[in-house]
Amino acid sequence: ATPTALLVGTGRGAQLGILIRGPEILESTRRVDTVVLDKTGTVTTGRMTLTAVHPAEGVERAELLRLAGALEDASEHPIAQAVATAATRELGALPAPEDFTNIEGRGVQGVVDGHAVIVGRASLLADWSQHLPSALAEAKAEAERQGKTAIAVGWDGAARGVLVVADTVKATSAQAVAQLVGLGLTPVLLTGDNRAVAEQIAAEVGIDEVIAEVLPADKVAVVRRLQDEGRVVAMVGDGVNDAAALAQADLGLAMGTGTDAAIEASDITLVRGDLRSAADAIRLSRRTLGTIK
Ligand code: ADP
Ligand code: MG
Repeated sequence: ATPTALLVGTGRGAQLGILIRGPEILESTRRVDTVVLDKTGTVTTGRMTLTAVHPAEGVERAELLRLAGALEDASEHPIAQAVATAATRELGALPAPEDFTNIEGRGVQGVVDGHAVIVGRASLLADWSQHLPSALAEAKAEAERQGKTAIAVGWDGAARGVLVVADTVKATSAQAVAQLVGLGLTPVLLTGDNRAVAEQIAAEVGIDEVIAEVLPADKVAVVRRLQDEGRVVAMVGDGVNDAAALAQADLGLAMGTGTDAAIEASDITLVRGDLRSAADAIRLSRRTLGTIK
């Protein structure tokens, strides 16, 4: 392709809300056969709301919300914001944690009002021998069957509640996936979230291949493994936790609505945060390179 034609292509992209880092990127765009899609914030809106509170027997709802909300208020994770917002709305101002640690892709832990509190995946609590009582395990399973995310809350050595948060699939995601498939690409859903939730969301948008329960640091290894299988991989993501995978992919596409870290690690920014732009980008590069060879 001539440099001029490539420049015309990138210019056309900008008009479509597709910012391409350099004209040479169009070349890698054309060869892609697999599109790895991050779930939260990419396929879904990432705006979570708290939909249910399940205290363990003998635990008060307000206590559960207060301790979990106070800790989550210190985290920027979408789940954390949903919990903190709901807790503040119901209880007013929350205490400031005396200690706080973020455990990437798993949850948070810290000290609130003198209690050692953990909020996150049930497996994180299980690492501290805090196992969900059967009623809570059942509430968690039921929420996950509905495609919702259930997180566990424990303090002072025991699991004491389950909080359910729900995210919504973007209105355009199913159409975007259909367009990607129409271009001959295989979509793969990649998430740190639970397998049951991931499969529910994948089914909603028409994705067959699901890679779930992947820690943020391991997303890059998943991309590398697909590449080792001989696939040419585009990755679409929005989060800090997607940055390394976006850089590793043959083509990294960041949601313009996402974090700076994701945008900086990418070759292409989808300004509108609309997944359909990913299909537009592939179509554009094929057209640009196809017509001028
Ligand atoms: P994704 O890959 O879908 O963007 P993450 O890797 O950010 O998701 O998180 C994976 C899982 O870890 C979440 O679904 C949740 O169960 C748990 N988790 C991570 N951070 C938090 C937090 N601050 N509070 C509660 N749970 C969390
Ligand atoms: Mg994300």
